[in-house]
Order: sequence, then C-alpha cells, then structure tokens
Amino acid sequence: MPVSLLGAAEIRRLAAELDVTPTKKLGQNFVVDANTVRKIVHAARVTASDRVVEIGPGLGSLTLAILETGASVVAVEIDHRLAERLPATAAAHDVPADRLTVIDADALRVDDLPGEPGVLVANLPYNVSVPVLLHFLETFSYLERGVVMVQAEVGERLAAPPGSKIYGAPSVKAAWYGSWRLAGTVSRQVFWPVPNVDSVLVGFDRDAEPRGTEEHRRRTFQIVDAAFQQRRKMLRQALAGVLGGTAAQASAMLEQAGVDPTLRGEQLTVDDYARIAAL
Ligand code: SAM
Repeated sequence: MPVSLLGAAEIRRLAAELDVTPTKKLGQNFVVDANTVRKIVHAARVTASDRVVEIGPGLGSLTLAILETGASVVAVEIDHRLAERLPATAAAHDVPADRLTVIDADALRVDDLPGEPGVLVANLPYNVSVPVLLHFLETFSYLERGVVMVQAEVGERLAAPPGSKIYGAPSVKAAWYGSWRLAGTVSRQVFWPVPNVDSVLVGFDRDAEPRGTEEHRRRTFQIVDAAFQQRRKMLRQALAGVLGGTAAQASAMLEQAGVDPTLRGEQLTVDDYARIAAL
C-alpha cells in the first residue's frame, strides 16, 4: 500500500484528540497542505535509498511526505504528546514500522542519531532554527545535505553572500560547513495557525572535505562573533579584543592573514575568517 498524506481536517482532528493547542514557544505552525510538504521533499531530492532526519515532525505532515518516497526517517520531537503519537499516525497511513524512528527529545541536546542519516529535511521551529541547524551540522558529520523551511529573513541571511547588508554571523558559520541556496518560498496560508512572518526553503550541501578541526572551527566562530558584534567598526577595532588586545596588534595579525584591517566584518568570506583563526 502506498503511504498516504495528512489532510487539513485530519490534522485538526489529531490536534484536538491530543489536546494540542499550537504554541509560539515551540514554534508550532503545522503545514496543512499536501502540495507544500511534497514540494519540500522534492527540493531535498529525497529518494527511496535515503535515510532522513527530521527536526520537529509535529503531527507528521512532512514526515509522511518524506516516507512516501520510500526513504526512512529519524524524527526528533520535543513535544512529548506529538512524539508519542507519531508512530500510530504513520502506521495508519501505511508506513512499515521499521521505516520510522521517533526520538522524544530536544533537538538541541541530541548527540546521536540511529542509522547515521545523510539528509536533513525539516520545517524548523522558528525560535531555534539557526542554533539547531548549526548544532546538527557540527555534531553529525554524516549529514551531507538538506532542505529546511525557516523564516524568510533567516533563510535569506543563511544564503547571503559577503558584502550584502544581511550577511551576518549565521551566514559565515553556515558557510563553514558548505554551500547554501534559497530553494523556494512558501505561502503563510499553508500553515495552521497562520504565522505573521513569511517562510522560505533553504538548501545546503556539505563540502566534501571539512574546512578545519573542531578547535579551528571554534576559534573561527569566536572571531566571527566579535567581528559582527561591532559590524560598523573596522576589523582592527572590532577584533582587538580577540586578536592580542590592541588595534595595532589586531592590524598586524590581519595583515599577516592577508586581510585589509580597515575592512568591516561583512566584507570577509569564511575563508578569510578561517585564515585569521589559523594564526
Ligand atoms: N513538521 C511539522 C509540520 O511541518 O507541520 C511541524 C513543524 S513546526 C514549525 C515545529 C515543530 O518543532 C513542532 O512540532 C515543535 O513541537 C517542534 N520543536 C520545537 N522546538 C523543538 C526542539 N528544540 N527540538 C525538537 N523539536 C522541536
């Protein structure tokens, strides 16, 4: 039997049965439109041979669309009632039990995933979307690619190139792991409840080789944070605290890394930051 998807009426019925009123605190905006979840899965190029991890499956709309392809899913859900119900929903929609594993936990604290999934697909809880993405990329080196739905301005920032106004610390940190692209927009009307922000899809592909060691990454992120905390200042001032203590010391180190000390943080690529950190 092919896997069937959740309809809007069934989603509301499930929520009522579980006594779930969507909360802002957990970023609970459930997708109630089959075309949208299929569009996300298509953008992520999920096929039957993939093992997928989903963050925040909620009532299961996107989960079933991933499972419809024949892929297997590990789903991490913080809301106990939703995590507990998901296997029964999947079974009722003709998903074989061995293709879905539900982890009842905070995704920010998960440090192990069964089966080493290589693809991330999620409609992320908006309040923790960037930390949770970075946590997953940092912790699960086998995660090769993915597509996530996030608030439009967060997605645009993640995919922003250096030199643009919206390029910020999340853009550089995301670029540490690989390349990012905007992969489509999503109407507010497909959610229940309807959110007061726009959403986009963002895709990523991890670089074939890691950019550096964990120590190098940590040092790079520290410098990135310092540069964007005072983004209007020149680097020699913004980075004085993390590069020796004075603007003169910071200037010397920046020059050594081949970076003009009078630039601002938003003009540097992740390679520039990594070179500064390597000193
Ligand atoms: N995937 C479902 C959909 O598309 O309809 C729900 C998406 S909803 C935007 C976000 C989901 O993430 C909710 O189910 C919420 O309970 C869950 N969530 C929120 N914070 C979380 C966290 N820290 N770890 C895991 N799940 C979380």
